[in-house]
Parts: sequence; C-alpha cells; structure tokens
Amino acid sequence: MARYTGPSCRLCRREGEKLFLKGARCYTEKCGVERRKYPPGQHGQSRGKLSDYGMQLREKQKVRRMYWIMEDQFRLYFHKASRMKGVTGEVLLQLLERRLDNAAFRMGFAVNRREARQIVKHGHFLVNGKRVDIPSFLLRDGDVVEVRESSRELQAITESLSIAGHRGFPVWVEVDAKSLKGKFVRVPSRDEMQLPVQEQLIVELYSK
Ligand code: SF4
Repeated sequence: MARYTGPSCRLCRREGEKLFLKGARCYTEKCGVERRKYPPGQHGQSRGKLSDYGMQLREKQKVRRMYWIMEDQFRLYFHKASRMKGVTGEVLLQLLERRLDNAAFRMGFAVNRREARQIVKHGHFLVNGKRVDIPSFLLRDGDVVEVRESSRELQAITESLSIAGHRGFPVWVEVDAKSLKGKFVRVPSRDEMQLPVQEQLIVELYSK
C-alpha cells in the first residue's frame, strides 16, 4: 500500500486547514497554511467552486490526512462506525480518537500522529502494563498508556512532552509527565473534540 512521502504542508494547504502534521512549526507563523492561504500547484489560486461531491470528498480527505490513515482502513472505520450505536459521523471520529497512536499524540508523547505511529510500532509503549506495538489498537475508558522503562530517555518523547505540557492536554486524557504515563479517561464527545470537520459530509459520501 502506497504511503504519501511528499511535503506535509502541501496536504494542509490542499485542505485549506491546519492539520498539524509536523510539530512545533505548526504553531508558528512559518506554518504553510499561514504563509500561503491557497491550494498548492499551478492552478491552486484559480480553482472554482466545489460541487457537493467535491465538498464531501475534501472533507473525507481532510480527516483521513489529519489522522494519517490510508483510504482502505478509513473506509473500514466508517463501516464499523455505521454498525455501532450512535450518530455515525461522531462514532467515526471517536474510533479515530481511540487509536493508540492518536492517544500517544494527544498525550504529548509525539509531536504529530505520524511520529506517534512510528514510536508505537517500535514498541515503546505499554497499555495497562502490557507492550502494545499496534498503532490502530483501540483504547477503552480508563486505559493507561505508559512509556516503557527502557524508552524513557528517548529525546523525541521527552522533548515532545515538554512542548505539549506548555500547550495543555485535551480533557479526555490525563498525563503524568514525570512518570511518562497517560490515562485515556473517556471517549470524547463531539463537542470536546473541537475538530474543524463536517463529518456528515463523509457519511453522505460513503452512503452513496
Ligand atoms: Fe500543516 Fe503544520 Fe505545515 Fe502548518 S506547519 S501547513 S499545520 S503541517
């Protein structure tokens, strides 16, 4: 399965939103979206109005890129969400938030979700005391994510945590920076997530 290896900022500019795919740079005026507020490419500044389908597609791409998920897997999340209780769009976002790589990012152990995925894959985390190296592992309320003893000196983790500590953490995680532990307190509500996403458009796209 092909992975995108091009510039991250290009993806944000394509969606016209900050997707926070880098790290500290995303919070500065050097951010690509701040500097060039139009889509990339030769025709970036001359694109016309989007059709309904175009808007649905862009919304899906935005969320997929935000969480750094490939198309096939994203579609599986949608089908899973559509079979679960609740509003499908909201459940879809909640499933994505429950991923271990996303939680590691939210807890500040990585500067972005891509890096979080790498460090999860390299086996640097315990979940409830057991080693887990599957980025898509879904956390449940109360699960504890912890950096392994042998990985506690990793510069990428400690530096990222110190930056995240200054910015603050979302309300659905609790982080103990000294012991490099985080608790996934609960699955966040849609309001708590505060994502600039119209998930209903994604539901419409996949329901065709
Ligand atoms: Fe996106 Fe971050 Fe690049 Fe800004 S700096 S365009 S938020 S990846």
